[in-house]
Amino acid sequence: MPATRNVEQNSPRKGIAATAIACAAGIATVATVLVVCVNVISQEIAASLDLFMREVAQVESSAMQGAIEDRLSILRGASAFVTDRNLDDDELLIERFREIVESGSFERVGVVTADGRGIGYDSRQGELPAAFYSDRAYVQMALQGEAYVSDPLDDMWGSGMCIVFSVPVYNVKHEGDAPIGALVGISTVDEFADTLDTSLFGGNGYVNIIDSDGNVIFLSGHDESGGEANVFEGPFESADALDEMRGNLAEGVGGSAEFTVDGGSPKMVVYVPVGINDWFAEVVLSADYLEAKNRTVLLASVVMAVFAVGVSGGLLAAVLGTRRRSQRRLEQSALTDLLTGLDNGLAFKRKCSARPEHFDGGFSLVLFNLVGFSLFNTVFGYQEGSALLRSIAAVLSHDVRDGELVARLSDDRFLMLVDSSDIEAAEGRLLGLMDRIDNTLRPEGAQYRIVSQCCVYRLLRTDADRDVNLIVQDMAVPLERAKDDAGVRIVLFDEDDVACAKRARQIENIASTALQKEEFAAYLQPQYDIRGEEPVLCGAEALVRWNSPIIGFVAPDEFIPVLEANGSVRHIDRYMLERVCAQLRSWLDAGLACVPVSVNLSRRNLFSADLVEQIEHVVDAQSIPHHLIKLELTESIVAESEERLANAVEKLHEHGFGISMDDFGTGYSAFPKLKDVPFDAVKLDRSFFGEAIESSRGRTVLLGVIELLERLGFETVAEGVETEKEAAQLKRWGCQVVQGYVFGRPVPAEEFVRDHLAPAQDQLRRR
Ligand code: C2E
Ligand code: CA
Ligand code: CA
Repeated sequence: MPATRNVEQNSPRKGIAATAIACAAGIATVATVLVVCVNVISQEIAASLDLFMREVAQVESSAMQGAIEDRLSILRGASAFVTDRNLDDDELLIERFREIVESGSFERVGVVTADGRGIGYDSRQGELPAAFYSDRAYVQMALQGEAYVSDPLDDMWGSGMCIVFSVPVYNVKHEGDAPIGALVGISTVDEFADTLDTSLFGGNGYVNIIDSDGNVIFLSGHDESGGEANVFEGPFESADALDEMRGNLAEGVGGSAEFTVDGGSPKMVVYVPVGINDWFAEVVLSADYLEAKNRTVLLASVVMAVFAVGVSGGLLAAVLGTRRRSQRRLEQSALTDLLTGLDNGLAFKRKCSARPEHFDGGFSLVLFNLVGFSLFNTVFGYQEGSALLRSIAAVLSHDVRDGELVARLSDDRFLMLVDSSDIEAAEGRLLGLMDRIDNTLRPEGAQYRIVSQCCVYRLLRTDADRDVNLIVQDMAVPLERAKDDAGVRIVLFDEDDVACAKRARQIENIASTALQKEEFAAYLQPQYDIRGEEPVLCGAEALVRWNSPIIGFVAPDEFIPVLEANGSVRHIDRYMLERVCAQLRSWLDAGLACVPVSVNLSRRNLFSADLVEQIEHVVDAQSIPHHLIKLELTESIVAESEERLANAVEKLHEHGFGISMDDFGTGYSAFPKLKDVPFDAVKLDRSFFGEAIESSRGRTVLLGVIELLERLGFETVAEGVETEKEAAQLKRWGCQVVQGYVFGRPVPAEEFVRDHLAPAQDQLRRR
């Protein structure tokens, strides 16, 4: 029995032991699998996070580069017009600086001459008294021919810190000479640091700009950025990591590190060079955040690992899935606009370019703009402004459909990708959407109305490899222009506009250098007096020609409007006046009898308070008798500006210059103004008589106009006269002067002398 009992007693004990061994083996396997999984997952997360943070750092660093390049190119543009000839003309320069400052690009702009004397204009204090700056690095660098961006400096004219940008100023006439001064622009650090998207990963990360010695150049506005003045100063735990980072920064290469600040939370840091000075973009992410993410993932892994003992095959797939999801969650927080919860620009760009079906012509980009939003912000405050933006975001995301996208880019700029395969339906939908935006929540009792406008661009196959951000940049231009006209709701933008915008940007970019390099030429087109038996040469119009070595021949009708829009046309006009004066000087010196030469004056000039003095200065510098210079103002200026124009024209007239009204009959009715402004001549545009000559009604109108102009005492000049027949008819009707292909095209000065001025010498001397 005992034996039996023994057997009976032994058998369960063996069973227990076997189970225990099996359990232990099982647990060991699970534990091993678990440890392996945990390691793999942790490494994977760290690696993908590192990669992603590098991408974010890269984006921030390009944003910084862009912001700096923008400011330098504004300065370069402006520097072309500061020359040895006007370097001592404080009033003129201050006026130009005021314009730049008022355009919002800088807090302050000024010029420092080679001897260190500087003047400038400040947004708050206006004109600054002259002071000496020769010891400043930004002056010295520019004088050595280098563009320069400073580290943050104490602002001597304001409070707080500022960044100084400088570029060299050259003497126009002598290529290859050393710079004669430095053109300097100043931004406050706060304003400039706004370029940085300082809060990332849902507020758990931030971006700083640091230099190679670890000094923080721009501190992120984020609370947890710690406020260290130097990243190496913090009491770091890991000396090795610190050394490695120090070495990388010194060598100008990017990298990553994990740091634990004493007593604080551990941080993960990724840094990439910005490409400006020795600056780096430093992305910092709290390791707590990383840990929390890790913990969630690990917990899931434990459950999975246990499960995986049975189905280890499925494990790998599941682990990978979890990794992908966790990465996605991490990315998500860096791709979201914190204020509204919508996608941000980076997310929009990624999603858009990831779907080729968007580029088949059935989808359009829609950029929204709220007219009056900044005023709203000023009047009702930031809080109300943010609330308004959130309600608008709600309206838009409520409207967005499957396959469509919506994002907030910045301030009041929202971007959508909408299905526009049915154009009419899409238009109706957008109008409805804008009505809803316009009626969105306003502070109680506020009468204030926000008006939305949008710009629509249909995406085509050719856009698939273009940067959506650049398309949006181009769309913003016509949208900005539409602001002045509240009646406009939808602005359409097409491929031609894209090409135009690109071309205009190119023209803008190279025009100032082109002016420096004297790529512009003054052609002359003859004007003939047709009253007598034989036509007699009585004048010439100077017309600008530009043959660019970069983009080829550009017609004035194309580049003048672009330069008119950015204000630099004034410098072309001044340059043309200088060329014309130099030309007249050489004719006078050669003993030729001269005819008056007309120079076009763009409307931009009328905003200079000292226009008349400027013109006189140029003309007198060559001792040209004033009656040999005529100035042409287009009819549109006359129609829109009042007293300023009358005063300027009157003054020019008093100083003995001739004044013509150009392009009469091109649509603006300047008739009522004619009698108030002392013009000498009125130029009839071809559109006024070209086809009109053919109809009897047109003839009657033209005849009436010529008669009226004559009675008011104006000389009439018909422009764009192409045929003998037109010229004969104009003569019969009493028109006095003709300019057009019929007598000669605009030609270089030598040809003008050969074909027109030299043959007319006898007639001119007899007069
Ligand atoms: P605009 O001042 O009305 O100049 C007359 C234009 O008519 C010139 O065009 C001239 O070449 C053209 N033209 C002359 N005769 C004939 C003709 O018989 N038939 C036809 N079809 N056209 C004729 P261009 O040189 O292309 O200049 C176009 C416009 O660009 C000018 O119109 C003027 O508004 C602007 N522009 C040209 N040079 C300057 C300049 O130095 N400064 C400024 N501010 N604007 C300029
Ligand atoms: Ca003209
Ligand atoms: Ca004209």
